[in-house]
Order: sequence, then structure tokens, then C-alpha cells
Amino acid sequence: MDTNILHNISCGMFIVSSKKDRFLNGQIVNTVFQVTNSPVTVAISINKENLTHEYIRASGIFTVSILSEEAPLPFIGKFGFKSGRTEDKFKDVKYKLSAAGTPIVLDYTIGYLEAKVINTFDCGTHTLFLGEVTDMSLLKSGKPLTYEYYHQIKKGTTPQTAPTFIKTENSAPASGVKKYRCTVCNYVYDPRAGDADGGIPPGTPFEQLPDTWSCPVCGVDKSKFVEEITVCET
Ligand code: FE
Repeated sequence: MDTNILHNISCGMFIVSSKKDRFLNGQIVNTVFQVTNSPVTVAISINKENLTHEYIRASGIFTVSILSEEAPLPFIGKFGFKSGRTEDKFKDVKYKLSAAGTPIVLDYTIGYLEAKVINTFDCGTHTLFLGEVTDMSLLKSGKPLTYEYYHQIKKGTTPQTAPTFIKTENSAPASGVKKYRCTVCNYVYDPRAGDADGGIPPGTPFEQLPDTWSCPVCGVDKSKFVEEITVCET
């Protein structure tokens, strides 16, 4: 069974946020889809271990901020690879509160919607929340960030808690070029490509990266990277 076929299922990149009492949290979600149009309902899939899951359960409300292609990896990493249990994800992020007090991320956001949970479906590791949309608005023009663009152009990776995580994604590249993988988020530094967001030009060897360089996705330093097993081309 070829699990790579799952990468051909098109989906977008969103920040789903919620609240519990006065606390706010949000996370990257790639499974948001409209279910009906009268009333407008959407479904989202959230890992039961995530803090956002706990908050949606508590408040019965969530917002969806639709990200644009301009969203840089560190911004996506903040919401995708870090936990609200250890840091305030909304620190240094532009956002506003909905009438219900739920955060709406404004940075790199084309538009948003807010929904109240009207049904849930237990899906094992995840819960599918069905929400009726109570508010939505377009904020600015732009191209919505797709999961394909995130992977192919931005070289983004997938956390293990995501519904679309595929184990084979971490296999070694079949090339003679050394690459370096972040052991925290699985981002791969390819010296041929460099790191445009981090100001690292193409062709920069890993060893020559400055000590101040950090993983563009999750923010850890160079010491958390390991060399990928290199397969020689024949
Ligand atoms: Fe990382």
C-alpha cells in the first residue's frame, strides 16, 4: 500500500483557535472543510492530545484563520510544532477577539470564520468537530496557503500529531548529497537549497551555518540536527 498517494489529497493550511476561560490557544490544522451551505457548517479534525482540543471541548467555539502563502515557516512552526502548555502562542502575534472572546489570528490571514460546535465524532486519535458558522469575514486579498505549497515550496514538515502525518516521510533521501534533519520537527536542511527565510544562501554547507541559526520551523539550534543516512547514487 503506497501511503504517498495521501499527499495527493488537496488541503489548505489554517490556524484553528479556541479559548478556555481567559486562556487562548491555537494550532495549525490542514483538515478544514465546508460540509453544508444552509446553514454554513464546517468540520475540523483535532488530535485529542492537543490543548486546542481541550479548549474547543470547554468553550464549544472555534475560529479558523485562513493562512496566505506569505506565512513564513517560523510563524507556521510556532502554531504547528509548539504547545500552548509551555508557551503563549499569541505572544508577538497580531490577533483580535471575536464577540465570543475567541482569538482570530490576523498575521498572514486572508480571512476567518467562527463556528459553534453542533456535533462531534470520535475518530480514535482525533475528534471531528462539526461547527455551524456564526461569523466570517474576508480580511485581505492573497493566495491561500495549500498543504502542497507548504511541502513543495516552503519545504515544511508534518508533526506526528497531525491527521495527515505519514511515517515514510522521514525516510532518507535517495541521493549522494548530505542533508540534515531536525530531530524535533523533521525539517530537513538541504545545503543545495539553503534557508531563504533565515538568510542562508543556496550552497551553504551545514557546518558553515552560523551558531545563531535555528530550525526555521520549530526554532531549536543546530545541535538538534542529525545527518541523514546518505544513499550513494549509482
Ligand atoms: Fe525543527
